[in-house]
Order: sequence, then structure tokens, then C-alpha cells
Amino acid sequence: MSPRATVDPNAPRRVLVTGGSRGIGRAICLALAADGFDIAINFRANHAAAAAVAAEVEATGRVASLLPFDVGDRAACAEALVGDIAANGPYFGVVCNAGIRADAAFPTIKGEDWDRVLRTNLDAFYNVLQPVSMPMIRARRGGRIAVMTSLAGLAGNRGQTSYAASKAGLIGAAKSLAQELAKRKITVNCVAPGLIETEMIEGAAVEGLAAMIPMRRLGKPQEVAAVVSFLFSEGAAYITGETISVNGGML
Ligand code: NDP
Repeated sequence: MSPRATVDPNAPRRVLVTGGSRGIGRAICLALAADGFDIAINFRANHAAAAAVAAEVEATGRVASLLPFDVGDRAACAEALVGDIAANGPYFGVVCNAGIRADAAFPTIKGEDWDRVLRTNLDAFYNVLQPVSMPMIRARRGGRIAVMTSLAGLAGNRGQTSYAASKAGLIGAAKSLAQELAKRKITVNCVAPGLIETEMIEGAAVEGLAAMIPMRRLGKPQEVAAVVSFLFSEGAAYITGETISVNGGML
């Protein structure tokens, strides 16, 4: 695409959702499909789960495509994303949702676990958004970027130094990118869930956790997706650089 290329404003608007195969990412894919977006579903390993989400997206009448790559692998991201944009055009929006945790008391954290969490959660901001941002700008139709951070990134959490560091870093990166892209009508915001019922928190003592939450229950993936849906709407066009918490009243 030439440097001054624009995109037909009536062309279908495609959104890339990283970690779209399960949990919060799946709910975001379905919410944005219901809003009329075509969805590129990224995942790392679970092809069957991603294919099932693609079928659910297609059932809404939207187009779904599967983009398997590890968001922590810079070369793999660039190869997949540059290829997808060349074939299908620039994204209207991106949801940086894929994330992992490897919790441990700080003195016991292994270096490789620290690196894996920072690479998957924080480096992915660069790995995914750097190759896609210039094509979004050149499309000249505005856009939306949402980044999944966490209550841990705002408040810290015992046993989660690596995870909290990665999620706090995302907030700073998103605020800066928001300022860079504002005049292009591309908004960049963070969503900070508290405790949400997904595989990520499997094994946790749910009743004990719920007791710490003012609403006395965990959140649902759909309750996080609803905020992303709002941020991707026309009504949210003037909101950028924000972090919106979805946590039942914690903090
Ligand atoms: P899940 O563990 O349920 O799902 C994680 C998703 O990310 C899967 O689709 C998985 O793909 C994908 N993924 C993981 N690693 C990579 C990678 N290296 N490259 C590409 N995709 C990857 O997580 P949740 O839905 O619970 O969490 C989604 C986001 O929300 C995360 O960023 C998490 O930190 C954040 N969050 C979650 C909270 C919660 O309580 N659940 C609270 C606060 C924030 P695959 O299936 O192929 O493995």
C-alpha cells in the first residue's frame, strides 16, 4: 500500500484480537462481531478453541480469520501481521489481550519466568502494535486500540511482581501511544479487570477471593468485553489514554 493510501470508509472494519481463543479474548471477539466488526483471531497453541470462536463470529454474519503466533516472538509477530495486512488490508482496531502469569514470591522467581511474563505481556505491545500502527495511520479512517492490563498493574499484588510490572508498563506505553496517535483519530485505552472467571484463575480459591470483592462475586468475561465494545464505539471517540477498571469495586 502506498504511503498516502486511504481505505474506502465503507469497507468492512477488521479488528485483531490477541489471545482471542479463550476467556476474555473470546468474549471480546463475540462482542465486537456483534458490533459489526470482522475479527482476526490470534492465539498461540489452542487451534481447536480458536476455530470454535471463529465459527461463533461467523454465525453473527461477520468474517473471522485465524492468526496463530506467539505475541512474545517479535519476528513471528512481524511476519504474520505484515502478511495479513498485505492480504486483507489494515486493521481498524487492535485489542492487545493475550497475557500470562507465573506467580511466585519474589525471592523464588526464576529468571526465565520473569522474562517469559514480561515478553508475553509487555514486549507484545511493541511486537504487535509496531507493525500495524503505520498501516492504521495511512488508512486515514481513525481507529481503536485497547490494551488489557490488570488491577495488579494499578495496585500491585503479592506474588505477582512480574505480572504487575508488565501490566503497569502497558499503562505507560498506552498513555504515550495515545498521545502520539490522537491527531490521527486513533484512540488507545487500557482496560483493567479485577478477578474474572476464566482459565487464568483456575485453581484459585474462588470463594475466598469473592469475599475480598465489594460486589462479592467474580466478574464475567462478557463484562470486560462490554467495556472494549464501548471503547470501539463512535461514542468513545474522545476518550484516549484512559484506564478503565472492571473489578466489582476493588481499590
Ligand atoms: P486465559 O488464560 O483464559 O486466555 C489467554 C489467551 O491468551 C488464550 O487465548 C491464549 O491462547 C492466549 N495466549 C497466551 N499466551 C499467548 C502468546 N504468547 N501468544 C498468543 N496468544 C497467547 O486468560 P484471560 O482471558 O483470563 O486473560 C485475558 C487477558 O486479561 C490477559 O492479558 C490477562 O492478563 C488479563 N486479565 C485477566 C484477569 C482474570 O482474572 N482472568 C484479571 C486481570 C487481567 P491459547 O489458547 O492458544 O493458549
